[in-house]
Amino acid sequence: MRVTTVVIGAGHAGLAMSHCLTARSIDHVVLERGEVAHSWKAEGWDSLRLLTPNWLSRLPGYGYEGDDPDGFRTMPETIAFIEGYAAVIAAPVRTHTKVSSVRRTDDGYDVATDHGQWRCRTVVLASGACNVACVPPVAEALPPEIRTITALEYRNPDMLGQGGVLVVGASATGTQIAEEVHRSGRPVTLAVGEHIRAPRVYRGRDIKWWMDAAGVLDDRYDEIDDIGRARNVPSLQLAGSTDRRTVDLNRLTDLGVRLVGRLAGVVDGKAQFSGSLRNQCALSDLKMTRLLERIDAWAADHGLDGEVDPPHRFEPTRVEGSPPLGIDLRGGEIRTVVWATGFRPDYSWLEVPVLDRKGRIRHDGGIVEAPGMYLLGIPFLRRRKSSLIDGAAADAADLAAHLAAYLDTVAASHPRRPLAQGPVVDRRAS
Ligand SMILES: Cc1cc2nc3c(=O)[nH]c(=O)nc-3n(C[C@H](O)[C@H](O)[C@H](O)COP(=O)(O)OP(=O)(O)OC[C@H]3O[C@@H](n4cnc5c(N)ncnc54)[C@H](O)[C@@H]3O)c2cc1C
Repeated sequence: MRVTTVVIGAGHAGLAMSHCLTARSIDHVVLERGEVAHSWKAEGWDSLRLLTPNWLSRLPGYGYEGDDPDGFRTMPETIAFIEGYAAVIAAPVRTHTKVSSVRRTDDGYDVATDHGQWRCRTVVLASGACNVACVPPVAEALPPEIRTITALEYRNPDMLGQGGVLVVGASATGTQIAEEVHRSGRPVTLAVGEHIRAPRVYRGRDIKWWMDAAGVLDDRYDEIDDIGRARNVPSLQLAGSTDRRTVDLNRLTDLGVRLVGRLAGVVDGKAQFSGSLRNQCALSDLKMTRLLERIDAWAADHGLDGEVDPPHRFEPTRVEGSPPLGIDLRGGEIRTVVWATGFRPDYSWLEVPVLDRKGRIRHDGGIVEAPGMYLLGIPFLRRRKSSLIDGAAADAADLAAHLAAYLDTVAASHPRRPLAQGPVVDRRAS
């Protein structure tokens, strides 16, 4: 089967690209191993809501039209939103079609699936940033009696059995799970490494409203100091809830969650925690203050000071007493470990040499180091918001423009050359 462009993945990013390709009359197909919005159907815990407000999920040609723009979508609502988008744009999705390999050919790519082979000039990798849970090597040293579960597998506290729970990782996922497990009556210890604190509401408005309005979410990948670092910073400690509560470490401490430092090792059944908890918290407070300062400066510049609450600062993160530097995991205090230590993409099917030593795709703002190959939906791809639903519109538009120009270049340099073994069906508008 032949097509000009294959898009891999029918999450919101692949669908946004499909919309942009259709607008340019570039014939394409979207290959999806499951169903539209598969990641949201297969992953995520029962109580999960988006941490971005409803209005802040704008896809090209599609947005929120309900009566609760400041609310936070549940998972069924998120799935319905993305499925609705696929229907509205009539995306050419082939569901239950798993890509098993992508290989370079003389004039494009061979994309093998469990339902046949596609040949294309260009390929868009929109297969998701969170396919696999990252679990640190230290997991292998845990005593066998400790149950372990990743954030991708976690659904609700009932899965965990009784007894104390160690949640490892204190970004959006870890703090939300720690709070929920604590509420279920199980004692929770939270191992805290690098994290970024943020209030849900600041000066009377949602923090994401401020970040959007002040241009923070639009920060560009080619204009910030260290993009390698920016692509690896953890998610903001935020949660979406009906009461708009802030779920930061002070709140968790108030509830009774015990904070310890980063899980550094497990030796002879004893978990060892870093002594850097205070420093990590101070650093996180500092980063939050910098964000608030940027927001305040923007508000002052734009004459908002009279309209919104005055600037204020939050109590520093409290680290009470002397957090333990070790816990004997054979003592019965901890029965379960939840790994909330991040996610990573799975490119095991990609047979084009574009991965770096850490398995990340080498690219410049989504333009992969292989002609005609593009990447979408990963953190800070082109903008700070690239990993959010709201980031897909601008990124897909940019990359679709590049892709179209690439096709023009190829067509100009090989005016009579068909796509291997047959005519290219290229219905782009001239
Ligand atoms: C816990 C969690 C909370 C989040 N909260 C928010 C939030 O509040 N707001 C927000 O805007 N974003 C949120 N996100 C979204 C996330 O940050 C990114 O936006 C998302 O990972 C990227 O979307 P995507 O369309 O690129 O990928 P996905 O939605 O993961 O879609 C990729 C698709 O590719 C398919 N696929 C993968 N491999 C293959 C293959 N080999 N063959 C065929 N198909 C394949 C998958 O089945 C999947 O359907 C959250 C993500 C997680 C994990």
